[in-house]
Amino acid sequence: MTNLRWGLVGASTIAAQHMIDAFRANGGKVVAVMSTNADRALKFAERHRIARTTTSLEDLVQASDVDAVYISTTNELHRAQVFAAAKSGKAVLCEKPLALTLDDARAMVAECRSRGVILGTNHHLRNAATHRAMREAIQEGRIGKPLFARVFHAVYLPPHLQSWRIEKPEAGGGVVMDITVHDADTLRFVLDDEPVAVSAMTSRGGMGREGLEDGVMGVLRFSSGALAQFHDAFTTKFAATGFEVHGELGSLIGRDCMTQAPKGEVFLRTAAGEESLSIQHENLYARSVRLFQDAVAARGAPSANGQDGVKSLSVAVATLEAARSRAETPIDLRV
Ligand code: NDP
Repeated sequence: MTNLRWGLVGASTIAAQHMIDAFRANGGKVVAVMSTNADRALKFAERHRIARTTTSLEDLVQASDVDAVYISTTNELHRAQVFAAAKSGKAVLCEKPLALTLDDARAMVAECRSRGVILGTNHHLRNAATHRAMREAIQEGRIGKPLFARVFHAVYLPPHLQSWRIEKPEAGGGVVMDITVHDADTLRFVLDDEPVAVSAMTSRGGMGREGLEDGVMGVLRFSSGALAQFHDAFTTKFAATGFEVHGELGSLIGRDCMTQAPKGEVFLRTAAGEESLSIQHENLYARSVRLFQDAVAARGAPSANGQDGVKSLSVAVATLEAARSRAETPIDLRV
């Protein structure tokens, strides 16, 4: 079985803008969508040519024509929905952050493992050709030992997304849960290293409400000794994104690459001069789905699995604690 029949949990923007196309691009079918609002579900289904709607999670996950469940609801709901899907024996691709707490995220991983179902975390950025090219260049020794990395991921949250992310702490709002988790995953992937501690400061630049941060700057310490600086925000209309790694023998400069679109470029600077790495762009979400589909068919692993989701969440949790306590905070990497 490779052409999965998907059930969607959540009539969400990410499903509408990226994931439905990614499922179909891989030969998959979207057979049903579940929403808590029947009218929204119907409109969503009509707009995206989905045959069936439901307001019942149980109906969706138990349906015999659903092979895999994609969960893209607000973050506080992921845990119960992953448990329900796993109980029905369905493979699960869950959005980041996996959950609001590490205990919940670990329980989700353990549940999927014990039920023998595949769990993927939809960290799209490790699927970017730019980040894969940087990882490969590092593994080939082209910059020597990595010493520093810098992540530029400050963006402007578009008006249609200015809802729970900026006003609902209980839904896992805030820029750290939303964007820093992606930085953490991309850094772990590109550097092939684990972050062990973080220092950070958060800010409120006029968008976050109910005490939620809408900006953060921080520094991660990796087990190799490398340091990584990150800057994430919802409030910067004109900033560019980027990802850099500076090693003993060279620097990798990724530009315009912390995005959902398959774009961006990477330059390698060494004693020999500067060259542009050859990048074959591919839709990030389509690649994520392709690897997930292969994993379900026992041909590999999801690009980011459940453990990766626990680890990126752990960085987010430690970042918030570091900002609160104003102290370098250890990162708990137990999965
Ligand atoms: P949305 O706000 O679009 O959707 C989240 C939930 O809000 C839906 O499940 C839906 O509930 C409800 N909803 C949708 N539209 C409306 C509306 N008009 N009025 C009231 N409620 C509505 O969230 P996103 O798509 O931005 O994010 C969903 C998840 O995906 C999050 O976990 C997020 O972190 C993640 N995400 C991941 C990205 C990635 O690149 N990996 C990118 C963007 C988001 P219902 O379930 O009842 O239909």
